[in-house]
Parts: sequence; C-alpha cells; structure tokens
Amino acid sequence: MFTAFLIKYAEIGIKGRNRYLFEDALVHQIKHALKKCEGQFIVHKTQGRIYVDAETEFDFDEAVERLQTVFGISGICPVVYVEDEGFDKLKETIIEYIANVYPERDKSFKIQARRARKNYPKDSMSINMDMGEAVLRAYPEMRVDVHNPDILLNIEVREKIYIYSEIIPGPGGMPVGTGGKAMLLLSGGIDSPVAGYMIAKRGVKIDAVYFHAPPYTSERAKQKVVDLARLVSRYTGPIYLHVINFTDIQLYIHEKCPHEELTIIMRRYMMRIAEQIAKETECLGLITGESIGQVASQTMNSLAATNEVCTLPVYRPLIGFDKQEIVEVSEKIGTYETSILPFEDCCTIFVAKHPVTKPNINIIRRHEHNLDEKIQELVEAALRTDEVIVVE
Ligand code: ATP
Ligand code: MG
Repeated sequence: MFTAFLIKYAEIGIKGRNRYLFEDALVHQIKHALKKCEGQFIVHKTQGRIYVDAETEFDFDEAVERLQTVFGISGICPVVYVEDEGFDKLKETIIEYIANVYPERDKSFKIQARRARKNYPKDSMSINMDMGEAVLRAYPEMRVDVHNPDILLNIEVREKIYIYSEIIPGPGGMPVGTGGKAMLLLSGGIDSPVAGYMIAKRGVKIDAVYFHAPPYTSERAKQKVVDLARLVSRYTGPIYLHVINFTDIQLYIHEKCPHEELTIIMRRYMMRIAEQIAKETECLGLITGESIGQVASQTMNSLAATNEVCTLPVYRPLIGFDKQEIVEVSEKIGTYETSILPFEDCCTIFVAKHPVTKPNINIIRRHEHNLDEKIQELVEAALRTDEVIVVE
C-alpha cells in the first residue's frame, strides 16, 4: 500500500549554509543503499525534504531495512500518495488508510494538514476539522487529542496528496562522506567493528587494516575479518581492507624483547604501520576498539604507550564503554555473531602470562632498541605484503 518514504533527518538540518552538501550526500547514500533492493526508486529533494518514491512494486521490509543503514536518517515515514480527486475521495482514502494501518482503533488521533499547494480549495485548518469529523464518524471508538495523540496523521497537499503517520527510527548520525576518512584497525573481536560503526556514524568514510600472522593465525581468522568488514560496510559503504603480514615482526619482537612487554610493543608497531598506510591513503585519523582498563594493553599507561608512536589523532569511540554496552551495539548492528566465532585473532604464543599493566614509556623505548638491527627492514617488508581487499 505504501508507495513512498519521507525521510526525516535531524542533525544535518542545522548546518546552515552547508546544509545542501549534507542533503546531497544523504541523497547519494540513500540511492546507493537502495541500489541492491528489489524495485525502482527515485530519490528527490523537494522543498527541503527528501522523498523516496517507489516507481515499481517493491519489498517494503527490505527497503526499510536498507534505509535503516543510512547514517543521517533519523526517521523513515512510509507514505501513501494519492491523486487529488476531490475532498470526498480523500476522506475515503484516509478512512481506508486507518483501517489498514491501525487494525486496533481504540486510539487517540490528530489530523495535521499542510497545504503546500495554495490553490487547493480548503485551507489546512478546515482540512483538519472536516477530516477529523469524518474519521470520528467512521470510527466512533477513536477520539481526538490535539496535544498528545497516539496517531499523528499527516496530510500534505502538493501536486499529489501525501498521507503518513508512522515514523520508523533510522540510525541517526551524519551521511558518510561528509566527514573525511579514517583508518580502522580491524581485528576479529567484538570491539573494533563497533568502533568503526560509531565513527562512520559521524559521517566519516572508513578504510581498514588487519594484521595477520600466518601460520599462527589461520586463513579462517582472516576470512572472519573480511566478513566483519562486509557487515560494517552495510553502513559505511565500500571498505578498502588492507591485510598486512605481521608474522616476521611478531617473531622478531618475541625474540628480542621482554615477554611481558610483547603486547605493548606489538601494538606500537601495529599503530606505526597503520599510520603509514593511513597517511598514504589520505586518512585523517586512526580508529581502534580500545576501552580503558578492558585488558592489560588498555590501561591508561598502556594507551599512553601505544598512542605515543602516532602523530595522527587516534579515535577510540568505545573508550568509556563497558563490555556489555559494546556487546549491545554489536548485536544491534549485526556483527556480534561473527565476532564470537572461535578463530583466534592473535596467536596465544605471543601473549605473555603476566603482561605489564603499567608500562613505562622510557623502558619500552629502551627495549625497542633491541630491534634496531632489523626492524626497519621488517616494517618495509610488511608494508610490501599489503593485500587490498575491497569489501562491500
Ligand atoms: P577487538 O575486540 O576489537 O579485537 P580486543 O578487546 O581484542 O579488541 P585488543 O586485542 O587489545 O582488544 O586490541 C585493541 C585494538 O587494537 C582493537 O580494538 C583493534 O582496533 C586493534 N587490533 C588488535 N589486534 C589487531 C589486528 N590483528 N589487526 C588490526 N587491528 C588490531
Ligand atoms: Mg582483539
């Protein structure tokens, strides 16, 4: 029955003179999201509003699900369009609309008409009154409540007449592409996909880097990261996933450095390499899934030690989240089931029994000098293993 959607957007409405840039980006992202949907759609901007018109039959649930992946959308209103065939015909249409959308009618309502086409013979006030009366006559169990109605029934008179009353929540945020690009350090865990989602939600395009260590980490662990990137890309659009072979660096650190500092030193090299790729690909920052105190390598001291090797800003959107809160987001965005598959993301032989929780940066630096002989060469070799997988 619905033939269109009215798209509500919240925050991008307040961007002043740049508003049209955000709207255009939103239109672009909506078109992209609907491309793979059954049916043909026209996405257009009319008088400061964005509409999605279905030109053919379409699968309502699929279209809504797709629209719910587009950042920048705060609400999705399913719309019924009708030709203007006189007010009596419109009354019939509204009564039928209520019958279809609200099988249970013990509800209060308010009619909210907008006359965008000024030559329509009734003004909005009299549309409200006359239509309200018609609804009450058809459904005596309903009642009018102008302050806090259960159903706010919108009637917009344009060339055609638009009817809508439901708002399906969108994901919020800003359209991807309006906020530059950042490099996500993506592992196979629960946290980093959520971190990528959260930064993308602010309008940032995402690329990703994954460090794998064959044969210590398996092909299936790598496939899991590709799968996670694909799940995140439903929201972010295509992701360029860089897969870096990290084995030789890890083995070398394992050979030369105190074992309780392995994780910190390894993380410092991940950050350095990620930053190098980020700079080469015009990323303006790094993103990680770290959260204060979650593990030894994420204490304030450890974060200071890993942060120190970067000059780009490092965005850690989960920094103040509890694990349970992160799990909730991952369930909501559909990455949880994949994240908990049991393929090790980093091999256990490189994890110390008693890792430092308060690394001293000066001591870490001193121990890193144990690597001076070969590390530069190994980093360059690792960068040459960069395999770019375009995930969408
Ligand atoms: P996650 O659930 O994201 O794997 P985690 O709780 O396992 O996080 P760590 O393993 O300490 O935490 O990693 C902290 C962050 O470092 C991750 O969120 C991720 O951003 C990055 N990271 C860790 N391992 C890798 C890897 N192999 N490749 C790319 N990034 C990684
Ligand atoms: Mg991890």
